[in-house]
Formats: sequence, structure tokens, C-alpha cells
Amino acid sequence: MIIDGKKIAEGLREKLKKKIIEFKSNLKIAPGLSVILVGEDPASQIYVKNKIKYSKEIGIDSEVIRYPENIKEKIVLDKIIELNKNKKVSGILVQLPLPQHINKQKVIETILPEKDVDGFHPINVGNLSSGNESKIPCTPLGCLILLKEVEKNLSGKHVVIIGRSNLNGKPMAQLLLRENCTVTITHSKTKDLKSECNKADIIITAVGKPKLVKGDWVKKNAIVIDVGINKTNNGIVGDVDFDEVAKIAKAVTPVPGGVGPMTIACLLSNTVECFKRANS
Ligand code: NAP
Repeated sequence: MIIDGKKIAEGLREKLKKKIIEFKSNLKIAPGLSVILVGEDPASQIYVKNKIKYSKEIGIDSEVIRYPENIKEKIVLDKIIELNKNKKVSGILVQLPLPQHINKQKVIETILPEKDVDGFHPINVGNLSSGNESKIPCTPLGCLILLKEVEKNLSGKHVVIIGRSNLNGKPMAQLLLRENCTVTITHSKTKDLKSECNKADIIITAVGKPKLVKGDWVKKNAIVIDVGINKTNNGIVGDVDFDEVAKIAKAVTPVPGGVGPMTIACLLSNTVECFKRANS
């Protein structure tokens, strides 16, 4: 089974669109999303373009605030403080990476936790790891939704996560612990990655290395979620050797068309959640 992230994301966007129509008719206001983009990084330009396009499509009032590469950190921080106070703004996102001279952590911590649609603020990170209600980072949230399309009850499943970044691996592990999975987090210093993967009911890879996960790393009937995005001469590929793994796994996500569309759909969902909380 190939997990169709594009279709599942489309379904989620449709549901959100309906909710926003209801909000507009009941509350006379719509959720708002402000995205701050610093510099000209080509990948960031594309990500932001898509985030804005899809948010507008479902009725979110979205805007991009663009700054040149050499912008002073204080100007960005002051803008975030202004957006924090603005009642029309439900969610704030600062597109990463930022230029070297801007302190990423300071930027993240300036966003109000209630408007932190990326779920990167330490309060949200802490709440997620304590099992409290929190904003959940979009990519891990998207992966969880995809997993649940295949397996409703994840309790007791042994999940091997490849990659331990704050963006993907670590929040993914926290989310899966909440689902009562047994979680192994692996990384570049893991001794025998293949044998770890061979034990997994579910493999989630977020590394950035094309075809890292081979067919013989995967247990028969395992589920494989590929977060990786790698540019190659043959186009965009994931971390998984898709042709090999698709023959063995019960279900696998393609790249493109798997996790990527879900990341954006979950950003929209987080924005709607922030709006709901602010207006309840
Ligand atoms: P990152 O911060 O660079 O983290 C990569 C992780 O992979 C690190 O923990 C690293 O280990 C581990 N790693 C590197 N080489 C390894 C190896 N040979 N074996 C096992 N582990 C290895 O990357 P990231 O931001 O999490 O992103 C990971 C990938 O996901 C990238 O391709 C990125 O483009 C993609 N991505 C996709 C989406 C989406 O929506 N689909 C969203 C975000 C990111 P150490 O900690 O030991 O260095």
C-alpha cells in the first residue's frame, strides 16, 4: 500500500475549510497566519509560497512579511512582538533557516506560545514531552495522521525513528510515546542501524540521505514513513529506497506526495486550533 499523503492532506484541508466557513458565519472573523521570511533561500521561498497558497485557499487570512538577508535581529523581534499583540493574527511562523547573525532560539522564544504554529517554543516542547496539551510540530503531526490511516491503534508498536532533530525525530518520539508505542531513536552514531530497523513494526526516517533505508532493513509488513527530502539528478527522493521497500512493507509513503503535503496541512490545522483557543 502506498500512503497517499496528497489525498489525505486534501481531505484535511477540506475539513478545515468547512470549519473556517462556520467560524466566519458565527464569529465574523477568520483565522490569521503571519509568516516571516528572511533572505532569499530558494527552498524557503517555495515552502512559504505553498504555505500561503494553501492557507488562502481554505480561508485563512495569511500574509508574508519579507526581510532582506542583512536585516537587524531587533527588527524581526519587534515585528514578532507586534504580531503577538495583534488579535487578527492567530498564528506566527518564522521560516527557518535564519541568517547566522539572527539568534534562532531568541526568535522562537519571542513568539507567544499560544501563537506558535510550528510548536518550537520551549513551553510547547516541554508540554509535549510532559504529555500536556501543546502545539505540535507540523511534520511529526502529519506523520502520525498518516500512520493512523494505516493502523488506528498504535499501542505497543515498536517504532524506530531515524534522526533526532528538534524539528522531527524528538517530537515524533514524544507523540508516539503518547500513543503507547515503544520508541527507539537512532542517529548518526547508532552502531547497527540495519539491525535496529529490522526489529521495527514502524520505521520513520528523517535524515536527508537518499536511499538510506534498504529493502532488507525492513521487517515484512512493517509501515515505513519517509520524511526525507533529497534533491538528486533524478529529481526529489526521500531517505527510503522506495522500489525495494514497497515490495516488503505493509505500507510506505512516497516522496514527493507523502509527508510533505501533510506538513502544510498540519500547519493550517495548527493555525485553526490557535484561532479556536483564542476565541473560546
Ligand atoms: P537534521 O536536523 O539535519 O537531522 C538529521 C538527523 O539525521 C540527525 O539526527 C542525524 O544524526 C541523523 N543522521 C544523519 N546521518 C545519519 C545516518 N547515516 N544514519 C542515521 N542517522 C543519521 O535534519 P531535519 O531537519 O530533521 O530533516 C531531515 C530530513 O527531513 C531532511 O531531508 C529534510 O529536508 C526533511 N524534512 C522534510 C519535511 C517534510 O515536510 N517532508 C519537513 C522537515 C524536514 P546526528 O544527530 O547524530 O547528527
